[in-house]
This record gives sequence, structure tokens and C-alpha cells, in this order.
Amino acid sequence: MIHITNKKYCCGCSACASICPKHCITMQADDKGFLYPVVNELDCIDCGLCEKVCNELHPFEERTPQKVYAAINKNEQIRMKSSSGGIFYLLAEKIISEGGVVFGARFDEQWQVVIDYAETMEGVKAFMGSKYLQARMDTAYTDAKRFLTEGRKVLFSGTPCQIAGLHHLLQKSYENLLTLDVICHGVPSPLIWKEYLEKFKLRPKGVAGKNTVLSSLNEVPIIMGISFRDKYNGWKKYGFSVHKQLNNKEHVFREPMEKNLYMRLFLNNIILRPSCYKCQSKSGKSNSDISLADYWGIWRISSKMYDNKGTSLVLGNTQKGIDILRGINYKYIETSYADAFRYNPAIEKSCLETAAVEEFWSIYRTNRLNGMTDFLKKYEISFLESTFLKLKSIASRIIEIFYRS
Ligand SMILES: Cc1cc2nc3c(=O)[nH]c(=O)nc-3n(C[C@H](O)[C@H](O)[C@H](O)COP(=O)(O)OP(=O)(O)OC[C@H]3O[C@@H](n4cnc5c(N)ncnc54)[C@H](O)[C@@H]3O)c2cc1C
Ligand code: SF4
Ligand code: SF4
Ligand code: SF4
Repeated sequence: MIHITNKKYCCGCSACASICPKHCITMQADDKGFLYPVVNELDCIDCGLCEKVCNELHPFEERTPQKVYAAINKNEQIRMKSSSGGIFYLLAEKIISEGGVVFGARFDEQWQVVIDYAETMEGVKAFMGSKYLQARMDTAYTDAKRFLTEGRKVLFSGTPCQIAGLHHLLQKSYENLLTLDVICHGVPSPLIWKEYLEKFKLRPKGVAGKNTVLSSLNEVPIIMGISFRDKYNGWKKYGFSVHKQLNNKEHVFREPMEKNLYMRLFLNNIILRPSCYKCQSKSGKSNSDISLADYWGIWRISSKMYDNKGTSLVLGNTQKGIDILRGINYKYIETSYADAFRYNPAIEKSCLETAAVEEFWSIYRTNRLNGMTDFLKKYEISFLESTFLKLKSIASRIIEIFYRS
């Protein structure tokens, strides 16, 4: 039976909980807000299925993509609402038009994130845009398995570890399944996200998923929409935004990513799930058919594929993925894997875990999120200082070598 001794070796995919024939595994949040499996040992029959489907125990082989593209959705409205070039939307559209089902990450009624399915493009819209916190799996794996056995086409999207978890859970390949992962920097803590949202003093009951209940009270602002990748200042210098409504009037809070507290904690790798510092699903190990990312650095490779509105990096990992990509209408060029990797090391490399992580959680335990701006300033300054010192020492070594020779 599954027993977590080192949290770095559990990505929280929920495959173990979904496969358990006795339903005796529940996913429970730890003191940092990340979900881990907890077994009710009284009901366990020791069948070993939970260990068999665990990606951390049985990771897939590394793979290099067969095709690499820089790509842009020709519909500019869709692209502006997407995080990179809007390619997820096109793939979802293809599957829906063929009577299929699309799985993706949407906000729930509390503005937390859950993997859900949609059978219409209206439903798919809730999956658009990167949501920078870990999504719960709830019943998504078992729902997908049901649709697959019924013969429906399924597009399942998620982080690489969620896709690896699905493949393990299914234990066989399905012709009607297409899997898509996002190249993943890591996922921040849902607890820190909840705490951050509370700073807005907003009622989270608002417009989110399909079970939304709109509040009839007007005196407290309600959240109407959240974007972690608002392109109001362009794709490269994206910002964080919250649309809220008070007395039937809409207000927008916007902050550039480098000024926003939550984004700074995320981008400095401080509030990530422990497994993200030792990810087992990078380098193609998710077994996905297609991977999507931002094509950072495209401005150095092809000026015709760059307009600062978003360009996707698309990795065709399998023949099935490449065939589907051939069936959609978008603007693209083929590039090399080396170019893609040069500007996007997250394809292969996990984030670095620094001393700031431990320091953050110890400050958080007593002060919650208060004082974090000072903590970040100190950390970001010390990072700049250490980079400057490294550059200074490299420069002095070069001068030393020059004078010796
Ligand atoms: C947590 C996270 C980290 C990322 N890290 C990087 C990175 O380091 N480098 C990089 O180049 N790209 C990264 N991306 C991917 C990138 O931000 C875009 O999602 C990707 O380029 C697809 O963009 P799009 O324009 O085609 O579609 P979009 O509409 O922007 O993408 C939507 C897709 O993202 C999925 N998604 C959104 N939020 C989540 C979530 N919380 N959990 C699981 N799936 C989610 C949806 O299900 C859907 O498949 C990350 C995405 C996420 C969610
Ligand atoms: S060993 Fe079997 S019954 Fe026990 S927790 Fe794992 S899957 Fe469930
Ligand atoms: S990695 Fe996934 S399958 Fe393995 S223990 Fe964690 S939640 Fe369960
Ligand atoms: S970095 Fe790896 S472990 Fe963390 S969420 Fe992404 S795929 Fe999962």
C-alpha cells in the first residue's frame, strides 16, 4: 500500500486514490495545502494496485519530441485570452467537433482549480489560460476512463505528472485518447493562493465553473475573473489581474508579474510543491502526445512568428499527436529542439530549491503572508548580489588568465 515517507516523491496526481478498489485512499491537504494520499488501513486489502500505478515508483522513459513547432492561433481574440499562442483551444475545438470530450483545468466556486471535462466549446473556455496553482483531480481520471470505454474521443490536458498519472491508471493505450501536457515550471500551494485571495477581501462565490451561483448581495465585491497571464502589457511582460464587481460596476485590479506578491513567490520557486524540485515527468516522461509551452526566445529565431501577442512552443511527441496537429489550421514554422530548449529549460530541468523555501514557510507559520514583500526584497536582492558576485569573480579570473599568458 502507498505510504509517503518523502514528500518529494509524490506529485499528488491521485492515480492511487482513483484506482483503489476499496476506495480507501483519500487525498488530504498537508500544512502547506498540498494534497497527499492517506490510506484507511482497516479497509485496505493489500492488492498493491496503488503502488503499481504510481508514477513516482515507475516513471516512464525519457523521450525527445519528433517534431518541434512555433505556432500561432490565427484568431487574435482567442490568442489574447490564451497564455501563449492559443493552440490548446484549436486542439479542443477539433475534438469537440468530432463529438469528443475535453478535460482541462478550471476555477471552482472558491477560485481553487480542478480538472473537469467539457462537451461544448462554451465549457472549454473555462480551461483556457494558465492557472498557477495545483489543480485537484477529483473524479477526472475515472470520468475519462468511462468516456474512453464508451468509445468517445477524449482530449485530456494537464501538467506532465497528471498526464503520466492518467497513462499509469489506464494501464493500456486507447486509440481514442489524445493526451496534452503543458511544459511545467511547477505548481504553487493552493493554501497560499487561498490566503492571497483573502487579502482582496472579496467573496469568492462568483463566476467560475458550471455550478456557479451568482450572489444577490451587492455590497461586497465579487470576483468575476482572474488571469495569471493578462496580456494588457504584451505577452512578454504579462501581468496578474482580477476582475471584480461591486454595485453592478466592474473594477479591474492589475499588476505586472514582477510586482505581484503571489507571482513573485511563484516565479522565484518559493511556494512550489516539494515534488516540483525533483520532477519525475519532464523530458517527455509524461508520455503525452503533444506538449505546449510559451516559445520564449522566438523573437531571436523568427521575426515573422513574433508580435508580442503570444507564440506557442508545440512539441509533437508521438505520431498520433503530429497527425492531429496536421489537421488544425494555424500559422506555424518548424524549429529545432535545441532552439526550444535553449529558451525553455523547464522542458527538462526541475526548479532549484534554495534556502528561501524553508525561510518562507517558517515566516508564514507565524506571520502568514505579512512581511513577505520585505522577505522577497531581501531574497531577490541577495539573488542579484550573488549573480553580480559570480560575474565579478568570472571576470577577475578571465583577467588573471589573460595576464598569466
Ligand atoms: C502550472 C503551469 C506551469 C507552467 N510552466 C511553464 C513554463 O515553465 N514554461 C512554459 O513555456 N510554459 C509553461 N506553462 C504552459 C503555458 O503557460 C501555457 O499553458 C501553454 O503554452 C499553453 O498555452 P495556450 O496558449 O496554447 O493555451 P492556454 O489556453 O493558455 O492553456 C490552457 C491549458 O493549460 C491547462 N492548465 C491551465 N492551468 C492548469 C493547471 N493549474 N493545472 C493543469 N493544467 C492547467 C488547461 O487545462 C489547458 O490545457 C505552464 C502552465 C501551467 C498551468
Ligand atoms: S493496496 Fe489496494 S486496497 Fe490497499 S490502499 Fe492500495 S489500492 Fe487500496
Ligand atoms: S504520485 Fe500519485 S499515485 Fe503516487 S502516491 Fe502520489 S498521488 Fe499517489
Ligand atoms: S513540476 Fe513536475 S511534479 Fe511539479 S506539477 Fe509540474 S509536472 Fe508535476
